[in-house]
Amino acid sequence: MSAYREGREPVRHKPLALLCAQCAQRRVVRNADDTFVCERCDLEQPVFAVTPLPSDPVAKEWRGLPEGMAKTTVEDLTAFAREMGITEPAASLTVACNGLGVVVEVATSSGHPVGVDLRVNVAGLPPVTLRVETKEHVDAKRTGLTVEVQTGDAAFDERVFVESAAAPEDLALTLASPAVRRAIVTVLDHVGSVELTELGIEVGLRGEGACAPARLRELVLALRTIAGAPRVLSPSTEETPRRVNVARAVLFCVAPIVLAPLIHALHRYATFSVLIGVVAAGLAGLVWLVLQPPLRRLVAGRSRSHLDFAMLRGVLLGDLFVAALAALLLVNGAGDRSAPRHVELVAYEVGYDSEDHQAIVYAMDGPEKHSFSFDDPQRRIHLPATVTATFRQGRLGFPWQQGNAVVHWSSDDAKGK
Ligand SMILES: [Zn+2]
Repeated sequence: MSAYREGREPVRHKPLALLCAQCAQRRVVRNADDTFVCERCDLEQPVFAVTPLPSDPVAKEWRGLPEGMAKTTVEDLTAFAREMGITEPAASLTVACNGLGVVVEVATSSGHPVGVDLRVNVAGLPPVTLRVETKEHVDAKRTGLTVEVQTGDAAFDERVFVESAAAPEDLALTLASPAVRRAIVTVLDHVGSVELTELGIEVGLRGEGACAPARLRELVLALRTIAGAPRVLSPSTEETPRRVNVARAVLFCVAPIVLAPLIHALHRYATFSVLIGVVAAGLAGLVWLVLQPPLRRLVAGRSRSHLDFAMLRGVLLGDLFVAALAALLLVNGAGDRSAPRHVELVAYEVGYDSEDHQAIVYAMDGPEKHSFSFDDPQRRIHLPATVTATFRQGRLGFPWQQGNAVVHWSSDDAKGK
């Protein structure tokens, strides 16, 4: 009736659960009521809170310094702990905030403090990563590649990028609470991203000022508000489309498949010309560009589409380059109809690779410099020396060496390539 009077549809939503804003009692809401009364503390409150309840966190538990952590290293967290009434050095404390515990602790890396972690252990939130929205996100959305849940709250939608495999309607319900949206924006004023998981919320503050009590207090309240957000009772996930998984599997499987012929081609038909790599890169790049639009269409439509697209196009470029190089080498070498040219070259320098126990023999073929490697564990190869080899012109004009070269020096011979 009231819906008729106000000229709009009544709000409909899936059954949801949330935590009382005052005492954190879990409450299930099955109908479209705007408000509910907490069974434990009797507070009547909106389902989708507009403002968080004011709260002053109080210390519930705390832990002193672990063995080996110097007193001075947690000097900064002490200021916050002291505000909570703890005068001894604390590495970790749990504060109660509107009935819910928020853990605040010194984060360490190899025993050294690097900042402060804040954590709320709470079940049922939709798994989602909330990020500060970047130009990359905006571009991906504008081109239709990536689709993100919009809340209709311009300030939130512009500031926050919602990245999740949770169903959009489930996310929309969690974000329907203005107090929760504001709390998320508050958190993102301090960190680049915050992750909600089935186990709760964790935020890592790093760098200068990570332990400022005012900052920690603000974050504790924000995390408490987010932790109480409405969440669906039966969450559904937006599965990655089959076509995206197939494309990913194909592109990753193709890599070893095209690598095998390349290794074979490099072993038998390696050319002296680095130009073949440039040509292969050019060919691969052209095909890659042509394949961008269909690949983009294939992955489009989800909040992680821009990430899938970046990953898949990277793998595709690698696959195409390897395939192009293998194909060029094989056509150039295996398809070569030119007459073999047997040469005898006079070496002008002999180097030594002590790691591989190989002699590197340098010689000129007209204006062309060549180097040949020969196994030489006893370092016997020396000047004066000559190298005999068979050169071919290459079907595509990239000269290559057929078979092994042979080096002659003094009275001794060795075989190599
Ligand atoms: Zn309550």
